[in-house]
Amino acid sequence: MNAQSKPEMTNLSPSPTNSQADGLRRGDEYLRSLNDGRAVYVDGELVKDVTKHPAFAAATRSAARLFDTAAAPALRDRMTFTSPSSGRPVLRAYQIPRSHADLKARRLASETWSEGTFGMIGRTPDHVSGFFCGYAAVPEVFAAGGKHFAENVVNFYEHLRENHMWATYAIVPPQIDRGKPAHKQSDPTLYAGVVKERDDGIVISGAQQLATGGVISDYLYLSCIHPLQAGDENYAIGVALPMNAAGMKLYPRRPFALQATNSFDYPLSSRFDETDCFVVLKDVFVPWEHVFIYRNTEVCRDQWWKTPSHAYGNLQAQARYATKLRFMMGLAKRMNEMTGNDAHPQVQVQMGEMAAHVQLVESMLEAQETRAAIDANGVMWPCKRSLYAIMALQSDMNPRLIDTIRELTGAAMISLPSSLQDLESPETAEDIERYMRAASTDARSRIALMRMAWDFIGTEFGNRSQQYEKFYGGASFLVKQNMYRSYDFGRGTALVDAALNLPPEL
Ligand SMILES: Cc1cc2nc3c(=O)[nH]c(=O)nc-3n(C[C@H](O)[C@H](O)[C@H](O)COP(=O)(O)OP(=O)(O)OC[C@H]3O[C@@H](n4cnc5c(N)ncnc54)[C@H](O)[C@@H]3O)c2cc1C
Repeated sequence: MNAQSKPEMTNLSPSPTNSQADGLRRGDEYLRSLNDGRAVYVDGELVKDVTKHPAFAAATRSAARLFDTAAAPALRDRMTFTSPSSGRPVLRAYQIPRSHADLKARRLASETWSEGTFGMIGRTPDHVSGFFCGYAAVPEVFAAGGKHFAENVVNFYEHLRENHMWATYAIVPPQIDRGKPAHKQSDPTLYAGVVKERDDGIVISGAQQLATGGVISDYLYLSCIHPLQAGDENYAIGVALPMNAAGMKLYPRRPFALQATNSFDYPLSSRFDETDCFVVLKDVFVPWEHVFIYRNTEVCRDQWWKTPSHAYGNLQAQARYATKLRFMMGLAKRMNEMTGNDAHPQVQVQMGEMAAHVQLVESMLEAQETRAAIDANGVMWPCKRSLYAIMALQSDMNPRLIDTIRELTGAAMISLPSSLQDLESPETAEDIERYMRAASTDARSRIALMRMAWDFIGTEFGNRSQQYEKFYGGASFLVKQNMYRSYDFGRGTALVDAALNLPPEL
């Protein structure tokens, strides 16, 4: 079979066994499915089981709770919708919105998941699910490369939806030499690309960054969001790989959970380190049914901009960010209460300025819904102008907010004991209890809050989280270009033209 013929659908893996009558995936099933032979390397060694390794175990448990939340009867309406094919409940994250109400329902489900992680896990399953909803909503874009590619992407979307799967993605080439296009790199197999076509599929080699959540997901979507040019066809692909694909290795950055000695001193690092993985592929075979884009630079580009994929995925990102900012405001408020500075007018001014930024994010999130529009297929697209406006400001706004908290707390996050053990040792406990308390609370509660704030702002985990907010949607110059392309400059220039053409008064 060549690349243009229609592929046979084979069994897509992985497929969890759902023991419950509703068919929804539970946390324990998810955890079992992660022990599938995926090749994750830490400190030069292959990790045997990510659910047991100290670098990832707690994060996998946090991730498992997302599935339990979605399956909880009390949250069934919020977190699921009825599958159009099976009639069973499936994750709301896979609903293609066809009305404003659908879009809002999507956002509320994302809010519930992000509240479960305080916004600290960026790539929960509803991020890349949004991209696949966008692809399945406008399969014509994929059909431009061949009708079977459109069928493949819709089939794969349905597979993800019906099996409650978690996909992540790696869509940026490695930073080896950005001065040259993909095909002019010193070695053609540095960037992830096709090295061979077979009757039953294609073979891929090379590297791609940066699969956040790679260690804890089911599938990797490998594609390229960077502009590609003539000659780069081998790198213009869109393929799905199970995380245990033969020949694929994941290299997570330094796992912060390894430094998190206990959950009191590192309340966030110890629970929510979602991992960011550099992906290396060596002769990885991809069957045709998992190929959605094949050697086509136009389709590779259009998947992001001519479908609502980017808007759905980033609607989740903004819902999560708004939750994280609310958490941040809560931290700041509690810290001010504890230091006794809360009533100080100047502190209230600073808090008011922070709150204004947070409200802006929340309001722009709603604007993406209220200003959404229906396309010719009856699919509701969030308002991209509202999305890119807030994303464009985020990379400058977030550091400013963090800096205001640093300003407000002085040494409060630093004048703390070395660890929980100082609170427990008979030699030190009395001093800690006596001098490290706050007027309103005892030492243990004060230290717990300040440790939480430091983990949010100052630890390696906290700093990575700030880097995430700067880059999760691409470098800020690119996001600003998205805004430039989305904004209606015509209304402004029309006003200028009208003003220039006013009849003379004098
Ligand atoms: C914590 C984190 C998590 C991430 N998660 C994911 C993920 O899940 N999946 C994924 O695919 N990617 C992910 N990314 C990668 C992210 O998409 C990229 O970091 C982002 O697209 C920026 O690309 P880059 O890192 O190659 O930076 P570069 O493109 O090298 O840009 C770095 C800086 O160089 C300057 N610069 C470069 N080129 C230009 C230019 N043409 N004009 C002006 N200035 C320029 C800008 O200052 C820019 O900020 C993640 C990144 C981070 C930091």
